[in-house]
Amino acid sequence: MHEMSLMAEMIELLGCSARENNIDKIIKVHLVVGKMTMALPDALTMAFDVFKTEDIFAPSAELTIEQRETIAKCRTCGSTFSAPDNYLFICPTCQGLRIEIISGRELYIASFEGEEA
Ligand SMILES: [Zn+2]
Repeated sequence: MHEMSLMAEMIELLGCSARENNIDKIIKVHLVVGKMTMALPDALTMAFDVFKTEDIFAPSAELTIEQRETIAKCRTCGSTFSAPDNYLFICPTCQGLRIEIISGRELYIASFEGEEA
C-alpha cells in the first residue's frame, strides 16, 4: 500500500516544518487528498497512527482528511465537469477529448496545529 510511503514523506515534512516554527508537539494535521492519487483515507489514517509515535507528535494527535473530487476542464469549450470513476475523460458538453485535469491530483498538508516549545 503506497499510503505508508506517502505518509512517511509527509511526516518527514511535518517534522521539519514544526521544528522551523518552534513547535514541540503536533496536535492536528489537515490533509488534502485528491481522488486521483488513489490514496485511501482509511489507509492514510492507519499509516498516520503508525507514524505518530514519533517524538514530534502528541499522543492524541489527530488527522483530518479532505478528499477532493477529480475535476476536468475541456480545452475546446471551457466547461468543467467531474470525472467519472473510470477516468474516461470526454467533455459532456461538446464531446471534446482535449481535457485538462484541474483538481484531483493534489496531496498536501493544508495546515497543522501544535504546541510551541
Ligand atoms: Zn467541451
